[in-house]
Amino acid sequence: MSSTKKVRVRFAPSPTGGLHLGGVRTVLYNYLFAKQHQGNFIVRIEDTDQTRYVPGAEEYIFNCLQWTGLEPDESVVHGGKYGPYRQSERKEIYRPYAEALVDKGYAYYAFDTPEELERMRKDFRTTDNPSPQYDHTVRMKMRNSLSMPREEVARLLSENARHVIRIKMPENETLSFTDIIRGEVSFNTSVVDDKVLIKADGMPTYHMAVVVDDHLMEISHVFRGEEWLSSTPVHLLLWKYLFGLDAMPEWAHLPLILGPNGKLSKRDGAKYGFPVFAMNWKDPKTNELTEGFKEKGFLPEAFINLLAVLGWNDGSEQELFTRAELIEKFSLERVQSGGAKFDYEKAKWFNHEWIKKLTAEELKEPVRDIYEQKGIVVSDEKRLVEVIELIRDR
Ligand code: GLU
Repeated sequence: MSSTKKVRVRFAPSPTGGLHLGGVRTVLYNYLFAKQHQGNFIVRIEDTDQTRYVPGAEEYIFNCLQWTGLEPDESVVHGGKYGPYRQSERKEIYRPYAEALVDKGYAYYAFDTPEELERMRKDFRTTDNPSPQYDHTVRMKMRNSLSMPREEVARLLSENARHVIRIKMPENETLSFTDIIRGEVSFNTSVVDDKVLIKADGMPTYHMAVVVDDHLMEISHVFRGEEWLSSTPVHLLLWKYLFGLDAMPEWAHLPLILGPNGKLSKRDGAKYGFPVFAMNWKDPKTNELTEGFKEKGFLPEAFINLLAVLGWNDGSEQELFTRAELIEKFSLERVQSGGAKFDYEKAKWFNHEWIKKLTAEELKEPVRDIYEQKGIVVSDEKRLVEVIELIRDR
């Protein structure tokens, strides 16, 4: 990336449920980096997987951002010149890019039915390869525009036959990129399957949409969770084929947040009695409630502070940071690559410190919120301040 490019970073959640603290940390690191470089922080809603869509989840994400004060400069809610910021509203944009890839021989149409795919997984199963994928080893035995006669493909397309577009992963090529946190990362393309780019319903998959949108929205840096590292070979190829590797944003994959048993999960929260989401989230299908830091009584200042240091330090012993200090001191180079352990006792310590740090006046609103949640109406302002002074240390 050329150093003259304006800093534009994005958080790209899929509206599928509550916002995990790992998600908020991703928001925070994006936000701090944007503010530090007088750049823009964008929130893009990645809702192209209609089967995973959960009503209310998008609104909930914006409520969490508002509570933490990590407000985007551009989004569905905040507007901006690069919209729409919801991928389902951009559906028509992606297909021409995928078709251009087909024309250049980098992708192909595949007409296999779900039953045929199932059969492939059974028929090609061996002891060495217990779960065969749609890749260079099987693609010529399937029904696609590489294996079928040209006229047959043209006929199927003209009849609007159900199909997807897949990327043709090259065989045995090494792809690499430099991750800001991890340094050089390499992959062999042979282990990656021919990922679907455009689905049968016409929607792009995550891989297709993320690359096209990062390009169109002029994203300069992509900071996202480590779980997306395995997707980077596909993204690298799409960048190379569509826009050129020089145009590609810089990438950093943030370390996992670890709970008592590996990756911190919603279940850990329920099991050990600590919140895992930013705010309370009630699943509209199951009515299951997952607790949030806000409702547990955490101050946004404390929440942000404890997230900032989950995987980052400034090289000193300092643990308490104001937002302004974080904007000044944060650097991705000092983010660790190994998992960061979440410790709820420590999280409570941060909150306690922040309760002591803020004035009673500053604590009024969060305390009033908690009273309201419990159905208590606060009418006497002076009294509220007196109560805060009395109980804050405890
Ligand atoms: N939509 C992906 C998610 O839900 C975004 C991953 C990325 O930032 O590229 O986290």
